[in-house]
Amino acid sequence: MPHEEILLGLKDYEIKNIEGRHQVIVSVRYTGLIQCPHCQGERLRIKHSFVRRVRHADIGVRHCWLELESHKFNCHTCGRYFNQRFPGILPRRRNTEAFRREVYLKHLDGIDRQTLAHRERIAPATVERWFHNFLERAVSERQDAPCPRVLGIDEHFFSRKKGFATTFCDLEHHRVYDVTLGRSEAALEPYLQRLKGREQVRVVCMDLSDTYRSIIQKYFPNALIVADRFHVIRLINHQFLNLWRLLDPSGSRNRGLLNLMRRHYHNLKAEQAQRLTAYLQTMPALKIIYDFKQRLTNLLLLKHRTARQCRQLIPSWLEHLRELAYSAFPQLAQLGRTLSSWSEEIVRMWRFTKNNGITEGFHTKMEMISRRAFGFRNFDNYRLRVRVMCA
Ligand SMILES: [Zn+2]
Repeated sequence: MPHEEILLGLKDYEIKNIEGRHQVIVSVRYTGLIQCPHCQGERLRIKHSFVRRVRHADIGVRHCWLELESHKFNCHTCGRYFNQRFPGILPRRRNTEAFRREVYLKHLDGIDRQTLAHRERIAPATVERWFHNFLERAVSERQDAPCPRVLGIDEHFFSRKKGFATTFCDLEHHRVYDVTLGRSEAALEPYLQRLKGREQVRVVCMDLSDTYRSIIQKYFPNALIVADRFHVIRLINHQFLNLWRLLDPSGSRNRGLLNLMRRHYHNLKAEQAQRLTAYLQTMPALKIIYDFKQRLTNLLLLKHRTARQCRQLIPSWLEHLRELAYSAFPQLAQLGRTLSSWSEEIVRMWRFTKNNGITEGFHTKMEMISRRAFGFRNFDNYRLRVRVMCA
């Protein structure tokens, strides 16, 4: 590879001269083929010569300018005049594509607009404009991406003025498929009607939200809904802890005990398990409920089961639901009603391993994107960034 190509990252240029200490000025001559932009003719006559100065990507930490030896040509074939074009530099631009790309990447990596503009000696609005152009280019490359086969759906907060947004996540390939404003059926309807390839979606993972469930059933006819394990277990724990507060108000204020009660028993260390057992022995009624909760959560923690194994587990699951339904405590009866209404979706958790943890992870990243820009007023700008940076 010629030295010119290594140093400048541009093909077919010959370096005539390099000078400058803090800023590097490289005089170059284009050695590639020159054609008429109108008729692709190669029979040309130099009419006039001049030097074109453009900003190029930095060399190390030093700013770099290219001084291009360029000509105005007259084409013998079509008789028209034109200024010489250079690969890697668009007409009338005062900077190379490599430099624009460098600014885009630096901003993407988190250098804020003001600092970057100051460091590169360009205007902050220019940074923003270039960044936006590159994002749009990146998104347009996968404009017609079909709906993912395994979809995760969840809501997240966007802004106080515009409220919540819904995330559609491709759980198979670990990327955000899209985000759209709103979380109610009325708000999502126009978006979903336009969505292409809805019938390709086979599995949808979600928390226990009735709105989302009815939307999915309506718009994704071939999809099976699977409940998200984390949310189901959190719900069980929540109702259980509420009941505990009712049964033993003073004990439930103990932070240490609270920590032990909300964790899975099999995750406790030996001494922690001992402490919890000692406490539960003083509360026989609570112990029965605690044991029941443990059995229930252990049942729901199962995964990677075959269809046959799942069928064998179902009687046990129904037995738990029945016990909840006949419970004297309203908290447990309520829990029983919720779990029964989501029974099918929950039982599918044994079969499918995907969960919405990936979507939740992306929500953290989106929050970071939003915070770095000091919030967004325009949802489309936010969506553009999310689609590029969470892919
Ligand atoms: Zn021509």
